[in-house]
Amino acid sequence: MTGPGTTDTATADTATTDTATPGRARVASAVVIGAGLAGLTAAEGLAARGVEVTVLEARPRVGGRTHGIEVAPGAWIDAGAAYLGAKHTELLVLIKDLGLSTTPTTMLGASRFALDPATGADGELATRDGRFPPLNAVALGELFDRLAELTAQVDPEAPWLTPDAERLDALTAADWAEQQLDHPDARLFFPLFLGEMMAADPADISVLHMAFYLRSGGGLRYLNAFEGGAQEDRVAGGAHLLCERLAARLTDRRPGSVRLGEPVRSVVQDGEGVTVHTEAGAAYRAEVAVVALPPLLAESLDLRPVRPAPRAGERTGRGCAVKVNLVYPSPVWREHGLSGWSVNARGPLLSTVDDSPADAPDGSRVGVLTGFVTGAEAHRYAALGPEEQRAAAVEQAASLFPMLPEPIGFHRTDWVNEPYSKGCYAALFGPGDWSRLGPALTAPHGRVHWAGTETSTEFFGLLEGAIRSGHRVVAEILDAEATEV
Ligand SMILES: Cc1cc2nc3c(=O)[nH]c(=O)nc-3n(C[C@H](O)[C@H](O)[C@H](O)COP(=O)(O)OP(=O)(O)OC[C@H]3O[C@@H](n4cnc5c(N)ncnc54)[C@H](O)[C@@H]3O)c2cc1C
Repeated sequence: MTGPGTTDTATADTATTDTATPGRARVASAVVIGAGLAGLTAAEGLAARGVEVTVLEARPRVGGRTHGIEVAPGAWIDAGAAYLGAKHTELLVLIKDLGLSTTPTTMLGASRFALDPATGADGELATRDGRFPPLNAVALGELFDRLAELTAQVDPEAPWLTPDAERLDALTAADWAEQQLDHPDARLFFPLFLGEMMAADPADISVLHMAFYLRSGGGLRYLNAFEGGAQEDRVAGGAHLLCERLAARLTDRRPGSVRLGEPVRSVVQDGEGVTVHTEAGAAYRAEVAVVALPPLLAESLDLRPVRPAPRAGERTGRGCAVKVNLVYPSPVWREHGLSGWSVNARGPLLSTVDDSPADAPDGSRVGVLTGFVTGAEAHRYAALGPEEQRAAAVEQAASLFPMLPEPIGFHRTDWVNEPYSKGCYAALFGPGDWSRLGPALTAPHGRVHWAGTETSTEFFGLLEGAIRSGHRVVAEILDAEATEV
């Protein structure tokens, strides 16, 4: 493996465990494109088995859709992914393996709801124990029953093989709601629910994708829950630590193997290997490449030879979320019996949650209220100037929690327009995407392999999916002979 401006073929110097199939060529070198959780998991898995790995990352940091911000000395918050639960088994193993721990998400006290679409957050506020909104319980029960039926129907390993897949993939979730939901409360709540779960506008995703996502993520109840669900815990100190520690392991093993600020432009393969070219003109040579990018970004790479089947289409959308973190001297809402949780019909903050870091050992603390701006609202909010964004979020938070003082910090992360993410939490598959792209999402293109949370049918879109995709690609490379194209 070589650095900028040169090309050379690498050889592995160590082989701790040889998992190659007898009689097949053993892969000795790999370039991994993207230092998110998927790319780094793959890189670490390959390096641990003696493959010489170089990771090329476009940003000046590792972590991708995980990103930590230090809001007070030693107090970190998650500007990207944050939550996990007991079903995220590979993530829990990794947390332990990296010497990290989890901290519970605080959800004690009453919730706030501003669900009157006529008045929005400035109108009448409802305060309720628990998280069930003050809407017609029968209508919401029916909504969840219908979603559960769809979710049970989907083929979780190959959604395009779901019975009736063609019809479900042709219909948007907005069309489905129009046809299926009669009660105004169900119609009001459905887009808020999809925004929170998937950062999706119902008009942008197919019914098949919605059903698949809910199934893949552990089911409706699990995905939607804090206690016992997918939001139960956070990584203590911030989820960004996962990638930082993985990258540190890789560079301890081989200094210089994680290269930041190196956006990749093209991947050219021949009979012996791949040459990965960066925007800055550097070239890296190895036997195989792992592309660990979200599909919209992977699709914009120049691949030679060209890939026969696309992995993203015209209807593939960006997950729409702007995450807002408001920092206060303390989580003052707790003193008023409030959890910090709110759900709001009007934006920008369609929901809020208490994301305060654990108190420091010296007793110092900060309060962090995280606001989610999702779906169509994310586009509106992202188009505002920084001052308008701050004012709108601070004002809405104060109307929901009038006891709040002026914030001491304000951070907003616009994932929709992040050039090296193009949306979050994950790509949104629009009508026709699963039917057309599904079978091609993971199929290797000669020496080019695909990782990333969107290539995992288990926990698609989540940290857990990213890790599982990294493990899959390691097995794929070490079990397969490098084939010519
Ligand atoms: C606001 C937000 C909230 C979320 N909440 C949760 C949550 O609570 N729980 C959960 O489990 N998941 C959550 N997610 C989703 C989770 O973050 C992702 O599923 C996961 O991080 C994806 O990892 P990845 O490695 O597949 O992709 P990424 O993290 O996107 O990694 C791709 C990497 O490739 C790099 N890259 C892009 N283009 C190039 C190029 N041309 N050359 C080189 N490098 C390139 C990028 O910079 C990035 O580092 C959330 C995401 C966001 C943003």
